[in-house]
Amino acid sequence: MSKHYEGGCHCGAIRYSCTKEPELTFFCHCRDCQRTTGSPFSMELMIDQSCFEIDGPLKSYVVVGDSGKPVTRWNCTQCGSGIYLEGEADPGYVFLKVGSLDDASWVAPEMHIYTVAKQPWIKIDDNLPQYERAPDG
Ligand SMILES: [Zn+2]
Ligand SMILES: [Zn+2]
Repeated sequence: MSKHYEGGCHCGAIRYSCTKEPELTFFCHCRDCQRTTGSPFSMELMIDQSCFEIDGPLKSYVVVGDSGKPVTRWNCTQCGSGIYLEGEADPGYVFLKVGSLDDASWVAPEMHIYTVAKQPWIKIDDNLPQYERAPDG
């Protein structure tokens, strides 16, 4: 379904827009998300790359993710905000960090993944599906 939404980094140098609803929305409790966000989990939107346009001074680095495949994380060169990531495990998609959206109030989380790494003091009290790792294994 078509939908238009926009976002960017903290300093404003990076702006992006999307023209299609996310394929999937999820909380990720993996250690990589904990470290890169400085938070106990990350909330992410899986987006069809063809509907995603981004402008600004981006830099990236690659770390092998829990899938065992390389994950490229894109951040603003000026303020360091994490904007999105791409994984070889999911070609054709980007994973946007929900906190970078101008308005994230419409987002409807669908699941929790990598609960194997969830911090014990995070209490999940929604009825969303939980996966120890990714839904497809
Ligand atoms: Zn920035
Ligand atoms: Zn994660």
